[in-house]
Amino acid sequence: MKRVLVVEDNANNMRLLLKLLGGSGYETIKAETGEEGVRLAIEEMPDHILMDIKLPGIDGVEATGRIRASVGGSKAVIIAITSYAMAEDRERFLSQGFDGYIEKPIDPYTIVKEIEEYARNTDDPRSG
Ligand code: MN
Repeated sequence: MKRVLVVEDNANNMRLLLKLLGGSGYETIKAETGEEGVRLAIEEMPDHILMDIKLPGIDGVEATGRIRASVGGSKAVIIAITSYAMAEDRERFLSQGFDGYIEKPIDPYTIVKEIEEYARNTDDPRSG
C-alpha cells in the first residue's frame, strides 16, 4: 500500500484529501504545519507528499527544500497544492524541488488521477 503524507492547514481540504486518498487505497499521514510535514516526511518516508504552499510557520516551498535536503525524504514524489494560478508559478515550483503542481480548489473527481500521473512520470526511469 502506498503511503501519502498530506501537509495542509485547512481542515476542510485536509478532510477531503484524506477521504479521497483513503477511498483509493492509500495509507494517509497528516501534518498541519510545514515543520510537522518535514519531520513526518523524514520519519515516515512516505511515497508521495501533497504540500500546501501557504502554511503557518515555514511555507510549503521551504518545507520541500528541507525534505529534499534530507536523506530519508528526498525520494518522495512531492506535489504542490495551491491556489496560485499563474503559469510562472508552476515553473517556479518545478524548479524548487516539486514534481508536480495541482491547483485549488481541489477537484474530487480528478485529483487522485493527477497525483498518480505525476507519480508515474517521476517513477519512469526514462524521465531521468
Ligand atoms: Mn494553507
